[in-house]
Amino acid sequence: MNYKKLTVAQFIKASKKGEIDIPDFYAKLNSELKALQKKYNYFVTLTENKGINPSPNTKLTNLPISAKDCICAKGIQSTAGSKILEGYIPPFDATVLARAKKEGATIIGKTVQDEFGFGTFSTNSAYGIPKNPHGQDRSCGGSSGGAAGLTAALDMPHIALGQSTGGSISCPASFCGVVGLTPTYGRVSRYGLIDYANSLDKIGPIGRCVDDVKTLYEIISGHDPLDQTTIREDATMNEKFEMKGVKLGIPKEYFPPDMDESVKKVVLDAIDKMESLGAKTGECSLPHTKYSIPSYYIIAMAEASTNLAKYCGMRYGKEENPEGKHFDEYFSHIRGKYLGAEAKRRIILGTYTRMAGYRDQYYIKALKVRRLIINDYKKAFKKFDALLAPTMPFIAPKFKEIEKLSPIECYNADILTGAPNLAGIPMLSVPAGTSKNMPVGLHILADHMKEDTILNVGKEFEKISG
Ligand code: GLN
Repeated sequence: MNYKKLTVAQFIKASKKGEIDIPDFYAKLNSELKALQKKYNYFVTLTENKGINPSPNTKLTNLPISAKDCICAKGIQSTAGSKILEGYIPPFDATVLARAKKEGATIIGKTVQDEFGFGTFSTNSAYGIPKNPHGQDRSCGGSSGGAAGLTAALDMPHIALGQSTGGSISCPASFCGVVGLTPTYGRVSRYGLIDYANSLDKIGPIGRCVDDVKTLYEIISGHDPLDQTTIREDATMNEKFEMKGVKLGIPKEYFPPDMDESVKKVVLDAIDKMESLGAKTGECSLPHTKYSIPSYYIIAMAEASTNLAKYCGMRYGKEENPEGKHFDEYFSHIRGKYLGAEAKRRIILGTYTRMAGYRDQYYIKALKVRRLIINDYKKAFKKFDALLAPTMPFIAPKFKEIEKLSPIECYNADILTGAPNLAGIPMLSVPAGTSKNMPVGLHILADHMKEDTILNVGKEFEKISG
């Protein structure tokens, strides 16, 4: 059987009927993954898989699933892209993986990411940099770069699990030309996720089409007694969706004047296509967008700096012989040696913004701005069912361009993804077209809990965009 032409849905259907020779499928998959690994470096840990023998009543029945390295997988090294966690093998599965396995999935490995999610280009990884399959001198985006690159490059049925704090699902999906769903904050359990920033972290699927991400989303979402922040309300899908009459807002702040003109054109063409499907579009304004980057980075770093405090070589993280060293000296040695430059920068900045004396000026103020940003969206969603925007203001940059960027310039790359993540609203990035032969993503945003709207709008768009 030629597995290469099979979609995820076709694979699951055939697998349920026992029409797939699972050992043969996994042998081919293993060799394909090894070849991709050599060429593009998508995995921190790639496991040798044989597949399992799940019941045909399961929903994923033998489907290969990859997990971003920050999602704990039982028996597989999970490092969140950091040297400080090298060799850590969790004795348990994150809820998302436990649910996928229960539905018959096989976890094929842990994908490369920026250390603890700190980055937009996956260049802050301690385990090599993943390369974009559409241009090897370009970034896959970040921080779920390995997940999106693998999804784009692997020509066999598979869905990836990524994670987003401030855009890490949408950005790489956009740069690699695949579909990424960031669910509402709290919709998917974070149990077993190695935290970046607890009030922002979301796990979500990355796939080749809207149906793929929907399939995995339906399995991983829903209340989890192990994560008290999960939403109790069930996700419902409107299966009888029609584009006719759907109101789509175009936020004027999401087309910044310095944005790449050809990216803008691709997105405006996509909006025209939505109109041709019967949707009504109209301009709207999200006036606090300009404060989203400072507010996002203050909150994210403040939370990250407390989360990273536990990696000191005692209970968590690499250990060495502490004998003869004062504890301060020992902790500093471990953290100095095993954390990367960006992690150190964020610990220092994050600690500063929540220090007594600065807290009101920075951290508390950022929280107030976050509320204003949420209010902007709430106002827009009174008038519109969903909002459309470019996912990223440019195509995947070349590594040599990224090298020249200052930290602030890197942070500013999140100008379109920071605000929706701060607000915790769901978002879907779908391929809209290409600019200079590289993919451009269309971002579809909706109000909290409205995953069904963005999945339906995305699916209708996919039908005509090819
Ligand atoms: N680029 C953002 C950051 O560095 C977002 C990363 C993420 O979502 N994990 O914080």
